[in-house]
Amino acid sequence: MKIAFFDTKPYDKPSFEKFGAENGVTFKYFEAKLNEDTVDLAHGFDGVCVFVNDTVNAAVIDRLCEMGVKVIALRCAGFNNVDMKYAFGKIHVLRVPAYSPYAVAEHTMAMLLTSIRRIHKAYIRTRDFNFSLVGMTGFDLHGKTVGVIGTGRIGRVFVDICRGFGMKVLAYDKFPAKEIDNGDTVRYVSLDELFENSDIISLHCPLTEDTYHIIGDEAFAKCKQGVVILNTSRGALVDAEALLAAIKSRKVGAACLDVYEEESDLFFEDFSGHILEDDTLARLISMPNVIVSSHQAFLTEEALENIAETTVGNIVQFFETNQCPNELCYRYGGAEDCKNGKCF
Ligand code: NAD
Repeated sequence: MKIAFFDTKPYDKPSFEKFGAENGVTFKYFEAKLNEDTVDLAHGFDGVCVFVNDTVNAAVIDRLCEMGVKVIALRCAGFNNVDMKYAFGKIHVLRVPAYSPYAVAEHTMAMLLTSIRRIHKAYIRTRDFNFSLVGMTGFDLHGKTVGVIGTGRIGRVFVDICRGFGMKVLAYDKFPAKEIDNGDTVRYVSLDELFENSDIISLHCPLTEDTYHIIGDEAFAKCKQGVVILNTSRGALVDAEALLAAIKSRKVGAACLDVYEEESDLFFEDFSGHILEDDTLARLISMPNVIVSSHQAFLTEEALENIAETTVGNIVQFFETNQCPNELCYRYGGAEDCKNGKCF
């Protein structure tokens, strides 16, 4: 099995080499992202392996099919970058539904603590022998209310972490997991109730038509003054222009963003020394109460191992049996793993 691996970074290779060699899967690593300009690199391969910022649109799918590529193996959970409706019936799409919910949930809490305890400021100040505490006052998390939108694998780990800090949790999910609602410290509420009562709001739902700009002007109007916004899920859940306006008006007290609406041309690359064209991102980054990491929440040793192991397992299973439980299937709503592995 020969797989063209797009958007390769040095940290991807060791685990993919290890699991590939053990299972008879050969990867050819390309630094380029998959898109209409680069798709021909996949000529002669059985499949492509792609990540969150590769573009798998209709034109790319058509060209992959023309070249006889059988499978798109996503090495991530989210698949908003794949035109699933168009892919259905043409090419198989596999993903890694879970690899380490702890990696993302822990990064979310790391960003929150960094922000509200001004750790990013302290790091810079003390390196310059500036030991002043002026402007460094934070607030306790204990007793605060956190609104968690999306209580799947990552959201639930984040709920547990927040409970460990003595926070109250207001949860919202299109498909609530009733068992986590204890009627007291963790309660499912309506989205409006969550917006109105949360000191901190954390996003852990997928990007879909329903959730696009779920945090925007309308939501901010309902939120508490000084609300802290955490987004480690997908950029377009938050309307970045509306966020910027809400920060300028002081409605939003702080924002921690691991993802950004227009990240695909920027994140994972080094643009230091360049003029950033994206004024919204540049302005957000310039704010003292905004922390941006570049889609880094997944990046732990454990997650990288699990991603490689599952991706290689998916590819082997698919080519050996023509079925894979981690196949995405639009027929089942696009957001569900194929129930029977027979998508065609
Ligand atoms: P999951 O599928 O286990 O959970 C998602 C939850 O969102 C589910 O409970 C689902 O019912 C809920 N949901 C679906 N539609 C909703 C809606 N309209 N409103 C509210 N809730 C809705 O997924 P997960 O593994 O917990 O991942 C969550 C998200 O985290 C992924 O979709 C992905 O975008 C993001 N993610 C980011 C990183 C990163 O590195 N920053 C890494 C992995 C995943």
